[in-house]
Amino acid sequence: MLIYSSDLCDQTVADVRVCIVGAGAAGITLACELDGCGHKVLLLEAGGLKPTAATQDYYVGAANPPHPRSSEWRRVVFGGTTSVWGGRCVPFDPIDFEPREYVTNSGWPISYAEIARYYPRAMQYCEAGEFDFTATGSIDRGVPTIAGWTSDGVIDNDLIERYSPPTRFGKKYRAALRASRNVTAILGTRCTGLCRAAGDDRIEGVEVVLQSGKRRVIHADIVILAMGGIETARILLASDRNGSGFGNRMDLVGRFYGCHLGCVVGKFVPQRGKAAFDFEKTRDGIYCRRKFQFTAAAQRENRLLNTAFRLHFPAYSDASHKSSVMSTIYLAKSMLIPEYRNIIEYNAEHLAVKSPARQHWRNVVMGVPQVIRFGIDWTFRIHLARREMPYNLVESQNGSYPLEFNCEQTPMESSRIMLLSDRDKHAIPRVRIDWRRSDEDIVSAHRGFVVLREALSRTGVCRLEFDDSKLHERLASAAPVWSHHLGTTRMAMSPRNGVVDSNCAIFDLPDVYVASSAVFPTGSHANPTLTIVALSLRMAAHLRGRLNAPIPTAALG
Ligand SMILES: Cc1cc2nc3c(=O)[nH]c(=O)nc-3n(C[C@H](O)[C@H](O)[C@H](O)COP(=O)(O)OP(=O)(O)OC[C@H]3O[C@@H](n4cnc5c(N)ncnc54)[C@H](O)[C@@H]3O)c2cc1C
Repeated sequence: MLIYSSDLCDQTVADVRVCIVGAGAAGITLACELDGCGHKVLLLEAGGLKPTAATQDYYVGAANPPHPRSSEWRRVVFGGTTSVWGGRCVPFDPIDFEPREYVTNSGWPISYAEIARYYPRAMQYCEAGEFDFTATGSIDRGVPTIAGWTSDGVIDNDLIERYSPPTRFGKKYRAALRASRNVTAILGTRCTGLCRAAGDDRIEGVEVVLQSGKRRVIHADIVILAMGGIETARILLASDRNGSGFGNRMDLVGRFYGCHLGCVVGKFVPQRGKAAFDFEKTRDGIYCRRKFQFTAAAQRENRLLNTAFRLHFPAYSDASHKSSVMSTIYLAKSMLIPEYRNIIEYNAEHLAVKSPARQHWRNVVMGVPQVIRFGIDWTFRIHLARREMPYNLVESQNGSYPLEFNCEQTPMESSRIMLLSDRDKHAIPRVRIDWRRSDEDIVSAHRGFVVLREALSRTGVCRLEFDDSKLHERLASAAPVWSHHLGTTRMAMSPRNGVVDSNCAIFDLPDVYVASSAVFPTGSHANPTLTIVALSLRMAAHLRGRLNAPIPTAALG
């Protein structure tokens, strides 16, 4: 069933076995997997079917630049942030789960194999095709990433990232949830805190505020927090009005907050013709793009954080790209979603040349036919297509490519989410995001660029150029990849090192689980959503075991 909080009656909230809070990628996956489990399941969502300024205000808080504002890069709406996500799907690698002596606070309490078995079904949820991320395994008649470049064990250049259509979880799975007999999704129902039995580790339920402003407690045996990486920590910290928060006996809730580091650095030059730069389609019809990455052996040998590289397009703001399309996008950037506009502005201010508007207008006038072709292409391949081409790529004119890197951050206790004394309209303290990064990250990225340059120069078919004297400064200006909120209730073997155990249950409150990138102890270089969905599937299997319900195996409709 799917109802609004105004339709909620006592019967709806009686005898609830499982209460999931938050209907984003994690919460909706869990709700779908618990459909038919034979027990009453509620899915509470603060937002409605459409985002509004009033609900988005729930996320307003403070953040230290260059971290974006706390109300950006996440959405209060049924479907959560998948209502705007870009759909890039990338799995974690086995090395991400290992304790690495050169990465402080690294190591998961579970192995890669325990997640990998859920990736194929996570791919179905994200509509991203087969769980195969090699170019040779996925692309028919695929050209090599770079002609003549054979891997020498330092770089793996046979890798792709796959793109979801992108699946808007709120739209895609709404009908299935509406038809469910045991799952009820309740819109406009915001969790304001948890309540637990006095002096006990047992959870009693969740406190909610309804759209009408009325407050009530919903009792449930098991509670799953699926509110995203920032909000989950916020609600745990805000729950215990007399103390330091729930699940926070060791003062770890909100700590180890990380994102990914990303930046465009240097010039990648293929020496024998063009590189495989543009989007391609896999044999199962999924848009994909090439990437390359240090092998696990090279990471260990050179003490590198897990880092991926992609060939990038020129900076929008630098009119020397001479692309009428890029100049049009640059001039019309106010029409983009605010988050993408902010990236263009950030890059223009901190990383790239910002040409005067007249130079961009000159590009536009010189290339009107290309702009028209782009408009038609955009309408049919992006706007109207069921499977959108993720975005339009424009090559630079000179046969070289700026190089984009994404890497994990070293988890740091001092990087954290805290509560402000200021409160929102439901009296929940607003968040303060104190994002930090370690100097180790910049040292690793610097070493990585040197290792990459050497490895490429040995190939004889491509090279990497950068200015050694400016590399450190450039890498130090890398921004946190904006929409990835990781680690605030990290998974660990013991409560001394984390907030949740290997089943993602809170050590101090074993009937409360966290389904979110908040549990990631380290973040890989990969975008988080595919792994969030895989972990949610693993949690659903665990809960079905607890509830004595069979595991669903059918393919998704
Ligand atoms: C522009 C953009 C592009 C992105 N591109 C990619 C990409 O290409 N690849 C990728 O992997 N990721 C991408 N992401 C990130 C991706 O969207 C998130 O990783 C993913 O949506 C997180 O899922 P989640 O379920 O943990 O949280 P969310 O999707 O944020 O869902 C949380 C839900 O909880 C609800 N909620 C919050 N607080 C409460 C409360 N107190 N009570 C009740 N409900 C509550 C919210 O309304 C929301 O519906 C992108 C994000 C943005 C903004």
